[in-house]
Amino acid sequence: MENLCNISVIKDLFERHHFQFSKTLGQNFLVNPSVCPKIAQNGIFSENCGVIEIGTGIGVLTNELAKRAKKVVAIEIDDRLFPILEETLQEYSHIKIIHADVMKLDLGALIKEEFSGMDVCVCANLPYYITSPIIMMLLEQRLPIKWITVMVQKEAAIRLCAKPGTRDCGAVTFAVRYYSHPKQLFPVSKGSFLPAPKVDSAVIQLEVKSQSEYAVENESFLFALVKAAFSQRRKTLVNPVSSVLKIPKKTVALALENCDLKPIVRAEEVTFEQFLQLSNELFKLK
Ligand code: SAM
Repeated sequence: MENLCNISVIKDLFERHHFQFSKTLGQNFLVNPSVCPKIAQNGIFSENCGVIEIGTGIGVLTNELAKRAKKVVAIEIDDRLFPILEETLQEYSHIKIIHADVMKLDLGALIKEEFSGMDVCVCANLPYYITSPIIMMLLEQRLPIKWITVMVQKEAAIRLCAKPGTRDCGAVTFAVRYYSHPKQLFPVSKGSFLPAPKVDSAVIQLEVKSQSEYAVENESFLFALVKAAFSQRRKTLVNPVSSVLKIPKKTVALALENCDLKPIVRAEEVTFEQFLQLSNELFKLK
């Protein structure tokens, strides 16, 4: 296939297939030729790897994944891209393209059906309007996925990979760390995309934990607590936790005290381990 990062090749494809970018679907396609090989090299960790790609665009990353993986299943919501993909991916017989909204797919069933006996990973340049929902959906379902290697906006990368207890963290930071070991791999400038977005991006990698490593009284209470605490991140944690979870302020204050936390502590000052401890304590007291 011709170089899918070449602007005249892309323009020719779009003209022949009457394709126009959709802003609402987060269509910023990669045109920097060095980025896709790097994502694929970092994301595919064995020859026995089955890869799920979310959002094919015109297939520029799909091509690089297919060169290295045993099988690629790519999920794309925009069926206007399918005639283009028939052309750009024609040389590969081990790519399957599914027309679907990834948020509505049964990925557990898909993995069983498509990747039997393979190590499964996810590699994608994610549509930015649903970055966190996609990442949380992949993690919360405890799918048998080993690595998630994805391009996200720079600010999202910082938040997703931040250390709980620091200024950059949010509820999603805590959740990502609960389910995986996150790290930032490399930055990607906005000029690497067509059309260019307003902000720079970065590729991050989440090494998924195969099972929970923590002794938690009640997982859904833990996540409700973290979400409530970060709902007013710059304020002291007692107020939002008390009002959102409908627990008396006195009880929240006692739980904080039992965990050696200051009564005026803010969510962004609480470390990962302290949140686990606070959740167990509050769950017992409430
Ligand atoms: N992988 C291509 C690249 O790097 O050039 C395209 C990446 S582009 C940022 C995101 C892609 O995700 C688009 O092709 C878009 O149509 C697709 N997409 C958006 N929302 C989706 C969803 N809910 N499910 C599946 N694909 C989606």
